[in-house]
Amino acid sequence: MSIDLHTHSSASDGTDSPAALVAAAAAAGLDVVALTDHDTTAGWSTAAEARPAGLVVVPGMELSCRWFPADEPPMSVHLLAYLFDPEHPGLAAERARLRTERLTRGERIATNLAGAGYPVVWGEIVERSGGGVVGRPHIALALVEAGVVESVDHAFATLLSHRSPHYVTKADTDVLDGIRLVRAAGGVPVFAHGLATSRGRVVGDAAIRAMAEAGLLGLEVDHPDHTPEQRAHLRELADELGLIRTGSSDYHGTNKTTAIAACTTEPDQYAAIVTAGTGCAPFAD
Ligand code: AMP
Ligand code: ZN
Ligand code: FE
Ligand code: FE
Repeated sequence: MSIDLHTHSSASDGTDSPAALVAAAAAAGLDVVALTDHDTTAGWSTAAEARPAGLVVVPGMELSCRWFPADEPPMSVHLLAYLFDPEHPGLAAERARLRTERLTRGERIATNLAGAGYPVVWGEIVERSGGGVVGRPHIALALVEAGVVESVDHAFATLLSHRSPHYVTKADTDVLDGIRLVRAAGGVPVFAHGLATSRGRVVGDAAIRAMAEAGLLGLEVDHPDHTPEQRAHLRELADELGLIRTGSSDYHGTNKTTAIAACTTEPDQYAAIVTAGTGCAPFAD
């Protein structure tokens, strides 16, 4: 069994349509793929309809969250959520709030860039996102097309970095509230790429323990952005705290160089997610 539990389609900031994504998953030899677009379930129905026979599609999402340390500014953290009820009012309202937040924040970044003389037009960026969830990758593509940077990676390393003067932060969900909301909706919350220092500051073990106390059920251990040491540490923490361990690619189509199925989840860990998720069922034969 080959299982990848973290992928993005064009419903957020990936480049494959949900239909193309499930086809790519099958072509890569996956038995199970989870669709985890940022702050939306918009891709679920198309992914379900386009699902090739024999492939299981796990409906999910990656919720944009923040951890509030005692004596430092808040940190961005990502919470994967699987098999939650898409109609749960509290969680649906929070997803909608985050999407609005992305629009106002994206516009502020684009305005900053335009004000500094970079030829980006917010209206065009939104249009090109296809009515999906807007994120920095969409702004990065506009910068690539304008010839300002040579690649999306280059844009993230420079003008769109959280250290850039043009960067604007988003008012993401307090991760402890996010965990409780996902659980209330029958979902399975898993802390995504928790130690990926390449993305910025990361939380310490105390934060992960606090998340576990709030109802976190899993840690994403194997992720392309984690070093072998970071994976080993997360694996130990998961064992100590009794949490599910996942491994996933965080595939974004051509917006990132990572291939689908680059990291995978062990079948017994996936089975634990299916058992814990009561908000909806995987799409399967
Ligand atoms: P945002 O959610 O708008 O803050 O943008 C962050 C998103 O961009 C996350 O989904 C990341 O996976 C993605 N991302 C981060 N770094 C890169 C990169 N170098 N290339 C492409 N996408 C990236
Ligand atoms: Zn993304
Ligand atoms: Fe993420
Ligand atoms: Fe992701």
